[in-house]
Amino acid sequence: MSVAFITHVDCSLHGAGIDHPERAQRLSAIQDALVENQLASVLAHYEAPLAEREFLNVVHAKDYVDTVYSITPAIDDVWLDPDTFMTAGSLTAALRAVGANTLAIDLLMNQEARQVFCAVRPPGHHAEHNRAMGFCLFNNVAVAAAYARMKYSVDRVAIIDFDVHHGNGTENIFQNEPDVLFCSLFQHPFYPHSDVNPQSKHIIKIPLKAGTKGGEYRNLFTSKCIPAIEKFEPQLILVSAGFDAHVEDDLAGLCLVDADYAWLAAEIKKLAESLCEGKVAFTLEGGYKLSALARSVSAVIKELIA
Ligand SMILES: [Zn+2]
Repeated sequence: MSVAFITHVDCSLHGAGIDHPERAQRLSAIQDALVENQLASVLAHYEAPLAEREFLNVVHAKDYVDTVYSITPAIDDVWLDPDTFMTAGSLTAALRAVGANTLAIDLLMNQEARQVFCAVRPPGHHAEHNRAMGFCLFNNVAVAAAYARMKYSVDRVAIIDFDVHHGNGTENIFQNEPDVLFCSLFQHPFYPHSDVNPQSKHIIKIPLKAGTKGGEYRNLFTSKCIPAIEKFEPQLILVSAGFDAHVEDDLAGLCLVDADYAWLAAEIKKLAESLCEGKVAFTLEGGYKLSALARSVSAVIKELIA
């Protein structure tokens, strides 16, 4: 079985013409790097389908989904919060981003792919049950988890979030669902200013001070995240893979380097292989310094195909 890479050209439609760090060039930088590093040729490439609305409604309030569908920006952009915009192509892009995630579940559960990487935008982990937030319209990874539970009767899903920002949306959606373990490492204090005290046993929060380097990060991942996931015994692992904790990323203050992302990917793959027949899907969240993003994603994919 191959490692699958899912994306769609429509993901570039979101935000065309807007000067914003979450921009279409993020995806082209990743794809260019995969070609340059001779990784593209060993991946199984898939186009993301458009997500079906019924699956959005499983994790998002119907009123919220209806609102996003009803916004049809023509000339002017529509801002849903101070950071989160919609342009003419945003709904299509967002539906491809969610669709990539449901396809990822189909490929893993039907044993058509060993692991999956979804290179999509807009990102998703800040999107809550009933609101857009922090560049995110729909919570891509949350829909994937809910879809796996609904369609394939997966009992326990673990979500690892290594984006530099706390995945408040994912926590909000699964706060009352103990069969979804959510483990998030994030800079604190920092946006989105989440409460760092866990609300329940299945919500693991690992706050990190600005300036934290890879060594301490790896130690905390090893001592807190790995044992929690092993104890939970997930049947599927999903990863909110943000690359904005990279030392070269200006949006935040953590100090990871490319090799730390390779290490994370190797550790997560090992966990998946020991707990759930290798089934793990990585989905792009943040990461705004194009060169660091492209190198780090390449490092992750290199570990997955190894
Ligand atoms: Zn982020």
